[in-house]
Amino acid sequence: MSAQRYSTILDTTTLEGSSFADAGRLAEFIARHPRLFVLTGAGCSTGSGIPDYRDMDGGWKRRPPVTLQAFVGDAKTRSRYWARSLVGWRRFGRAQPNGTHAALAALEREGRVEVLLTQNVDGLHQSAGSRNVIDLHGRLDTVRCLACEARTPREAMQRALEALNPDWLALDALDAPDGDADLEGLDFASFRVPACATCGGMLKPDVVFFGENVPRDRVERAGTHLANADAMLVVGSSLMVFSGYRFAREAARLGKPVAAVNLGRTRADDLLTLKIESECATALADALDSLAGNAIA
Ligand SMILES: [Zn+2]
Repeated sequence: MSAQRYSTILDTTTLEGSSFADAGRLAEFIARHPRLFVLTGAGCSTGSGIPDYRDMDGGWKRRPPVTLQAFVGDAKTRSRYWARSLVGWRRFGRAQPNGTHAALAALEREGRVEVLLTQNVDGLHQSAGSRNVIDLHGRLDTVRCLACEARTPREAMQRALEALNPDWLALDALDAPDGDADLEGLDFASFRVPACATCGGMLKPDVVFFGENVPRDRVERAGTHLANADAMLVVGSSLMVFSGYRFAREAARLGKPVAAVNLGRTRADDLLTLKIESECATALADALDSLAGNAIA
């Protein structure tokens, strides 16, 4: 595709635009680029009751999440992690997809999605019907043994955690991102963490922790899809984490336009062809309506 074709839709001043105009601009972007590389983040799942880590400026709303180094290196950190997870999972595990997930699944059914790369670990895109999904940071519904690589369902881990720690079941807490929960001021030393049933190794949720690299083959697979795509559409992500931001940089390097639907600043604002500062579900639904109404194809 030529660079000239993109030049007609350069538009970085949508802050003052009406939602009607936003829907039109987003619909036009989607119509002009038949194969979209979609990248999604936490803003997609806030509507499903899963809180976001970041504020409108991309800064931390709360204490940053546990790092791989702390999790592997410190038994107390692991106890604290799994105690919070025991409580947080009860609601996180039941979260349902919302309008944003539904709209992106509809976009895929219309044949407009090359791939959906998500930074979320909740599996809600798949629950909503998206099929071509890469879970960049893994899935929280799976547990991995760091010694033998055995993978087991998170539900089985939940039952093991409950059996070993009956006193903790009465606890409730504020939900935190990624199935975590705020449980401050408790003595985590008494919390018992199960080991791998196969080899006795250390268990870890099958997600990429802060301080951990995304597996290279996953990055390469996503990169292949980006090369095949006509444009990139970012939905509900501030792109503050490099593992997601790198794809916006790569898209720009390849001369592919990048649009973002996000409330607040993104790290890639200076790379964007189009920025829609609206709530994701509404912006996408309006754009889909506009595409259907105008029969743009
Ligand atoms: Zn094992």
